[in-house]
Amino acid sequence: MKLRAWLMHALVSSLITGCVSPPAAPPEKQGNIFVVVVDTLRRDHVSAYGSKTRTPNIDRVAARGQVLTESASSFHQTTMSTAALFTGRTPSLERAGGEQLHWSGQTWCGLARLAANESDDCIPEAVPTLAEEMRKLGYRTVGVIANELLYKPGGYERGFDEWVQVAPRTPEQSKRNGRSSLQASARRRSAKPVNAAVLKALESQPKDRPLFVYVHYIDVHEYQILSRSYSDAVRIFDADFGLLLDDLEKRGYLDDAMLVLTSDHGEALGEKHALPSSRGHFGNPSFEPLLQVPLLASGKLVEDASAFVRSQDLYGLLLRAAGAPELPASQDTERGELFVSELAYQTYRSGRWKSTRPRDGRSISLFDLSADPGETNDVAAAHPAIVAEHHKRIDQLEKELSAADVQPRGLSASDEDRLRQLGYVE
Ligand SMILES: [Zn+2]
Repeated sequence: MKLRAWLMHALVSSLITGCVSPPAAPPEKQGNIFVVVVDTLRRDHVSAYGSKTRTPNIDRVAARGQVLTESASSFHQTTMSTAALFTGRTPSLERAGGEQLHWSGQTWCGLARLAANESDDCIPEAVPTLAEEMRKLGYRTVGVIANELLYKPGGYERGFDEWVQVAPRTPEQSKRNGRSSLQASARRRSAKPVNAAVLKALESQPKDRPLFVYVHYIDVHEYQILSRSYSDAVRIFDADFGLLLDDLEKRGYLDDAMLVLTSDHGEALGEKHALPSSRGHFGNPSFEPLLQVPLLASGKLVEDASAFVRSQDLYGLLLRAAGAPELPASQDTERGELFVSELAYQTYRSGRWKSTRPRDGRSISLFDLSADPGETNDVAAAHPAIVAEHHKRIDQLEKELSAADVQPRGLSASDEDRLRQLGYVE
């Protein structure tokens, strides 16, 4: 019914205007769609995936839905993977001439190649966002965000009717970067204040349309700042997230709704791989602990829960769940492959084979994820044909995803401040 009504509307709109325009009112009552991103949550710390860390509330999401077993982050870091989710595009740091782009608030969405000019947003204005498309499908759009890297300006907010940045620091607070100040800031942006902000934003919405709600939590990311073990941070978050679920259920927001929970990337917790890598999730080669993310849905998000789904694929899948007549085509890269264009490496995966090519000219490494999920054994020498294939595809993507004209710039003072706040720079 929902789909037929939408198609009828689209047909009428296109007859009138020549293209599909936003409906004046939803074709009929549709359920709300919630997307919850738990920043830095590893898949193997969610009990629905067999973890010893108990996450009963996260697991509630999939109790009558799906646990997707092969979901991957499009990039091992927040700004890139969120941009991928918000646009369906492949984030890239490639720059014409083979050099990588310098990292700045201008380039850290990975979409510099699509920018109209130097003053365009990090998510270029011409690139349609998930929230904009949700609006066209008749949704009222609400975003509640606790990761400062996504705060304005940047373009992440585009398309949201209401965009709540939880507890942004005052200029006075920004000047203090001592541990206690960082802890205080992390607490102000933790799950309980985020839950309160979500409920407040929802209560203030008119009831005329279904809601698309994007919630981005930062608690797990801040485990070190808050002096918690990673597992403890996950457990504490899970309990707080349960409070939001209770409130949403009580108030009817989850009736006929779809709730999707995922993470923007994982975290390295000291695993040893074939190549040296640091802890955390910034500047590493993209080993699996960084890329494997949980993806749970209340309801049916995909036909096959074992399908390979990247952050950027969620863009289309969510629009489809919202009533888009068909799944938008994958742009830039194929659905079954993953290309991570990083600062020091290019990582490419197709099926079980994953390669990591350093930008400094060292030779490429190849891993067989089915035989060696820990990526401890570089088998490049034993599989020259696969290595050649990966080189060829990386060369091709490097060209196709390059930004031609972005001048390398250093970090602005405010970019640097936001990165320091999150522990990325000293
Ligand atoms: Zn993140």
